[in-house]
Amino acid sequence: MAVYKADAIVIRTREYGESDRLITLFSREKGKLEAVAKGVRKPKSSQRGGTQLFTYADFLLYRGKNLDTVNQVQAKESFVHLWNDFDRTIAASCMVELLDVATTREQPEPELFFLTLSFLFWLKELDPYIAQAAYALRLMHIQGYLPVLDHCQECGKPLESEQSFLCAEAGGVLCAICKNNRVVKTLNPGSRALMKQLLRAKPDKIDRLRWNQSMKGEILGGLCFFCEQKLERKLKAWRQGSKL
Ligand SMILES: [Zn+2]
Repeated sequence: MAVYKADAIVIRTREYGESDRLITLFSREKGKLEAVAKGVRKPKSSQRGGTQLFTYADFLLYRGKNLDTVNQVQAKESFVHLWNDFDRTIAASCMVELLDVATTREQPEPELFFLTLSFLFWLKELDPYIAQAAYALRLMHIQGYLPVLDHCQECGKPLESEQSFLCAEAGGVLCAICKNNRVVKTLNPGSRALMKQLLRAKPDKIDRLRWNQSMKGEILGGLCFFCEQKLERKLKAWRQGSKL
């Protein structure tokens, strides 16, 4: 099969050669893919718009020996609302970065595809950073490493109105006694409660959730810390965007 179709979102782009662009796609059919879009950095290229970051499009790709090539692209949604708003651009960049880092190539993950596409649309309405946190928790849930938040992962003690400590190695939170000298991030009870709501709330309810500056820092910082440790990769957009 030399040519194949992909219903996909552009999740990463890099300049390649003189006028080409190397793009990472997340497709409904095959999961993550990589392809070269030839000549798209020339002003007159017909594929220019369809191969920009966040674009959702129908792709026709050539299977190459080393790299696949974009043959045709028909943009379905370019998410203009993301590019017109600084915070929304940052939040969307953090989402697709996490998706890229958390997945391997050509592993179909339709649930993650629909999750990502939905959140890119919902970013029009939602608080961008609340949406980013809700997206990350749902991705972690699908991938099977959602942190356990209601009891200490070492001694089993239920954690209610006390401080807890997020530890990737333990797979969730620890109590003050069990944390010892481990590398942890503090999570106060308000942040833990909000994280549970962010995971479960329906999209129209996510917008009713509120946080203050310190909860925002704890939650985004905690999620970044936990994912980086679990995935053994740095999340650059997360660190830059939230100044973590
Ligand atoms: Zn404990």
